[in-house]
Amino acid sequence: MNELKRVAIVGGGISGLTAAFKLLKEAKNSDSKIQIDLFEEKELGGVFKTVEDGEFRLECGPDSFFTKTNEILELSKELEISSSIIPTNEKKRKSLVAKGDQLIPLPEGFVMIAPSKEEAFMQTELLSENGKKRAMLEKELAPRENITEESVAQFVERRFGPEMLAKIVQPMVGGIYTGDVKELSAEACLPEFVEMERTKGSIIKALLQRQQAGVDADAKGARYSAFYSFEKGMYYLIDTLRQQINEMGGLTFKLNERVSSIIKLDQGKWGLETSKSQSTAYDALILALPAASLARITASLDGVLSENASQIYCASSCVVNLIFNKSDIDENMLDGFGFVVPEENNRPLIACSYLSEKYKHRSPEQKVILRAFFGGVKNEAILQESDAKLTELALQELDFYMKIKAKPLYTSISRWQESMPQYTIGHQGRIRAITKRLEDFPGIFITGNFISGVGIPKCVQMATEAAQKVAQFLQVQKAAQVN
Ligand SMILES: Cc1cc2nc3c(=O)[nH]c(=O)nc-3n(C[C@H](O)[C@H](O)[C@H](O)COP(=O)(O)OP(=O)(O)OC[C@H]3O[C@@H](n4cnc5c(N)ncnc54)[C@H](O)[C@@H]3O)c2cc1C
Repeated sequence: MNELKRVAIVGGGISGLTAAFKLLKEAKNSDSKIQIDLFEEKELGGVFKTVEDGEFRLECGPDSFFTKTNEILELSKELEISSSIIPTNEKKRKSLVAKGDQLIPLPEGFVMIAPSKEEAFMQTELLSENGKKRAMLEKELAPRENITEESVAQFVERRFGPEMLAKIVQPMVGGIYTGDVKELSAEACLPEFVEMERTKGSIIKALLQRQQAGVDADAKGARYSAFYSFEKGMYYLIDTLRQQINEMGGLTFKLNERVSSIIKLDQGKWGLETSKSQSTAYDALILALPAASLARITASLDGVLSENASQIYCASSCVVNLIFNKSDIDENMLDGFGFVVPEENNRPLIACSYLSEKYKHRSPEQKVILRAFFGGVKNEAILQESDAKLTELALQELDFYMKIKAKPLYTSISRWQESMPQYTIGHQGRIRAITKRLEDFPGIFITGNFISGVGIPKCVQMATEAAQKVAQFLQVQKAAQVN
């Protein structure tokens, strides 16, 4: 007997779409009959948004993926789009950090929170001589044992000193999460470095060893040779997934349909209440949602699950895309891929990324696309400002840091509400509590950027695992019915 199994996926971002694609493939390979409904309250892609406008290709959400691990490369191979992957511009592989109104390159070999090339680090103008000496002392510091969970700020300050934290690490790590380094958990946000202290005694020593072994051989600032995009922009990945899912058959996209709650039905099945209907009985659910949405839709199902999800705060941010004539910008200002701004500057801009300098196929040679980032946990109120005000702020900030006086040729604003989960102290405990609680709800599986990594590769990895778990769960169900 090969009974049809029904699955619902809630959320049509990269996590939900990857889970759908992988599950359909698993079903095809095992000759199982499956019908999936994918519910998405807005458009497919979640925070992915590439806008084609004449000669321009703008990114309103993510613009890159990191290939330290292989998930996107492998997914691209499966989708047969590997030839569309493009590298970053080799000539400008540099990150900048604001110091007052100056933009200063991150020292060569700097890896997220630590230097791996002492000579280059000792020449940086980002820190004072004492600040650099204190940071390099990290090599001699004994690892602390039996410490309770630390914030990113506590961990970095303890190992490298306050100056390194304030002037480099806060804008780098705080910028990724649009978060507060005093609240973010070191264990959850910087697991690799916490592990280095634990196993090697020193982060700098561990990085030097890795470099000698050739792991970070090309390290320049943020290891830019490992960042990639697609020729047609990041949304190409979403479009291809949608297209190939359609070709495989067995999935119905339920777009503009918001899921409001989960209902426990008889015989181990699950129902969904949505903005359009009370839907079919499902054998399994994959919830590929932001934490805040997960908290809302599980509220009537289970208080503990919902409460733990609601404690994962999701920050809102905003991206202002601006196009300028290249001739209006001093070319020295464009020597890199963009800059981050430390909180101590006390100004609204979090970061600015030079999209057209990072990747080809984004704009004509004589034009420049800049992306200004605002908001985050410390300044969410800014999203309430009008488009005109946000544009004005972006121009004011670009004048301050990049001395741009010219008017832009084009601007657009994207607001991303509740989009960036904050892995604050206790995060891993909350995820363990959610996972444990789900054991009482067989057939419900979760995935998404709030679990153990906000980067796209991690989302793809977790979604792949969720699809595998669902396939196994349905197999076990099938076997039980046969017996
Ligand atoms: C501005 C920005 C820039 C970024 N840049 C990068 C980058 O360059 N590289 C990188 O690796 N990562 C980047 N990230 C992070 C990365 O893009 C995200 O973590 C990842 O795309 C999240 O995917 P997701 O599918 O888990 O969640 P989402 O993309 O948030 O998708 C969740 C989906 O669920 C839907 N939904 C929510 N509630 C309901 C409901 N009740 N019913 C039905 N549907 C619902 C939403 O509409 C959404 O489409 C960036 C993030 C942002 C916000």
